Parts: sequence; structure tokens; C-alpha cells
Amino acid sequence: MKKEIAALTGDYCLSCTACMANCPVMAAAKEYRGPKLVGPAHGRMHFSQEDVEDSLEFCSNCKNCDRACPSGVAVSTLNMLARAKYFETHEHTHSENILAHTERMAKLVRKIPFGATFANLGMSVGKIFGIFKMIGIAGERDMPRYASMPFRKKFRDIVQKPADKKVVLFTGCYINDNEPQVGDAFVKVMQANGYEVLIDEEFNCCGSPLVAMGFFDEAREHASNNVRRILEWKKKNIPVVTPCTSCSLMLKEEYHELFDEEKIFEAATNVYDAFEFLDILDERGELNRNFKPLDKTFLYHVPCHLKSQAIGLPAAEILEEINGVKVKLADAGCCGISGNYGFRKDRYEISMKVGEKLFKRIARKDFDEIISDCGTCRMQINHATKIQPVHPLEILARVNF
Ligand code: SF4
Ligand code: SF4
Repeated sequence: MKKEIAALTGDYCLSCTACMANCPVMAAAKEYRGPKLVGPAHGRMHFSQEDVEDSLEFCSNCKNCDRACPSGVAVSTLNMLARAKYFETHEHTHSENILAHTERMAKLVRKIPFGATFANLGMSVGKIFGIFKMIGIAGERDMPRYASMPFRKKFRDIVQKPADKKVVLFTGCYINDNEPQVGDAFVKVMQANGYEVLIDEEFNCCGSPLVAMGFFDEAREHASNNVRRILEWKKKNIPVVTPCTSCSLMLKEEYHELFDEEKIFEAATNVYDAFEFLDILDERGELNRNFKPLDKTFLYHVPCHLKSQAIGLPAAEILEEINGVKVKLADAGCCGISGNYGFRKDRYEISMKVGEKLFKRIARKDFDEIISDCGTCRMQINHATKIQPVHPLEILARVNF
């Protein structure tokens, strides 16, 4: 749905402070002055290029403030626009540059023979010798390891049953380069539902890491290319579907908040989150419900960027249709990592503090496996608890036939 432009100014702020009460970073970091002041108020009050609200850099773009706002102010987007403005006149650091350009880094790695192996080795060595810390990346973390073969390359050898009904898989960077098994699961589930999966090699990274680090112009280029491609698929009546909740939020919602253009609204109507799409099939009575029974209890961490899409919890609803499956909602707020935010050395402690409630919930161990639709949420949970969560699609792929 087209968001009213009024929501993208601070003028509709009622000063109710609901956004502050729901901001996980504000609760974890006293240095952060919070969403009401940083987005709406400062946006209205600033007088010159030099007048910068310096606590703006604490915002993780988790979007909890937007959901809490009774007046519909897109607070997090105002923050990202203010950050973009800041970087018009300020240099990025090395760590911001590296963390924003995940797609570019992966492409470089893939150009070298055995590049993924060498890069993974280099990241381990870099961690041991404290090189990441020196350049501003959290030394406590493991950088995401590259899969030996990216999904889009592996996809060329996947044999599918041809079908009239088709979907385009938007993998996003993380599924393509780090967790191709989620792409495999997507193909298996879509084939079980009578769809053939297509890949569009011309898509770019959705741009979410670029926006978070203030590379606004590059993010706009990505948006422009991706919107052009989505509209091409729309003309052919083929939907674009993604299993990454940050990608789906970006393509459906954030593009038109950040770069207000009519064609972006049109493109957004042809994009679906993976379980949103399966839920539509379910509503039409077209979902393949041939599930093998599975006697398991899953703890579901719902990503902030899924909650922001206001599509409910389709993964939980569909998985609960499998005989023997129970889904418990973790209901413990933001995991704290917010994409590349928790990878910054100066944000690591905040990111872990934000996630404390979730980590405590997981420590109860009253489940068999953890599920979450967001790649970086899965990384954060694994980092804090040593338990490796899986994407809900991977569960469906185990039982769908
Ligand atoms: S996006 Fe998240 S961190 Fe940023 S102000 Fe809103 S709630 Fe706080
Ligand atoms: S929740 Fe919305 S209306 Fe209330 S203070 Fe925050 S931005 Fe203003």
C-alpha cells in the first residue's frame, strides 16, 4: 500500500514518546537520545549542514519505533535519510565501507580460484590476529563464511520439473553467498507446490546494508535497477519472491519511503516474502498440504523486519499445519544485530545487550530447534547461544512432498 508522504516528515509527530518506549537501542545505550528527538524533532529543527545530531549513528534501523508510532511517522526512515545527509559531507570509515558492500566483496572473492576458501581462512586469521578490530569491526564475531559455491551458480545444475506457474527467486546476498541451503529449500517447496523457480542474474543486492551505512546514492542505483527488473517480471505476470525478510521489506516498503517514485509503488505490488506467498496459496486452497508428520517443537524468533511488513506470522501458521509440529514464539524482542549494525566494533556491546532477553529465552531449552526467517538474526543467535537456527523454509522442505 502506498504510504502517505505525510508519514515521511516529522510534522505529524505528537510527541507521545511511544517510539522511545519501544526503541531497543535506547534501552541498551544511554548515549542514544532516541527516535523522537533524532528523527522527527531534529529533522524539523536543524538549521545548517554543520548542525548534526551526533547520537543519530546509534540507530540500528530495526524499525520498532515505526511500528509503535500512533501517527504513522516513518521514524527509522527519517533517521536513515538524516544519515544519508550527514554522509554527503563526511567520509565513511573503513569498517562502514566493508560492511556496506557485502555484494561487492563477495563478487571479488568469487573471481579468484578457491576464493571462498581463501577468504574464509583469511577471516579466521584476521580474527585471531585482531585485524578486524583494528579496522573497526567487532573482533568477537566470526564474519559470515562464504559457501563454496554461490546459490545462483549452483542453481544452474538444479533439475526442476517444468511448470506453467513460475516465480522469480530474489536470493539476496546472504542466501546466495553464505546460506545456499535456504535457496535449495525454496526450490524444493515451490516445486512441491507446482511452481518452477527462475533466477534473474541482473538483480543487485537489495541495498539494505548500503542504506544502514549511509551509502544513499549507491542504494538508489540498486533500487533503480531492481525496480526495473521487478517491473519486467510483472509485465510477464511472474511474481518476485524472497526468503530474506530484510530484502522483502526493502523491496516492498523501504524503497518507496527512501526514494519516492511512482514506479517503485508499482514494483512493490509484485514482491512477496516467501511465507507471505505460501500463505496466499493457502488462502486460495492451492497450498500443497502433503506434509510428512514431524514430531518437533520449534522456537520461532520473529525478525523485526518481518513484523514491520504487517503480514502476520505466515511461517508459524503453515508449519503448525504439519502433524506433530509445535511452534512456540520466542516473543523476546529484537535480537540486536540489525544487519551489519552489530558487526561494528563500537556497536557490538549494544547489540549483545539488546539481544539479552532473547538469549535468556533460548536458555530455557524447551524446544528441539530454533527457526527464524532472517539470516543475520540466525547469525546473532548462533553467536550468543552456539545453537544454529534454521530458516522455516528448511523445515517445510524436509516434510513437503
Ligand atoms: S529504528 Fe530501531 S534503533 Fe532506530 S530509533 Fe527506531 S527503534 Fe530505535
Ligand atoms: S511515536 Fe510517533 S508521534 Fe509519538 S513521539 Fe514517536 S514519532 Fe512522535
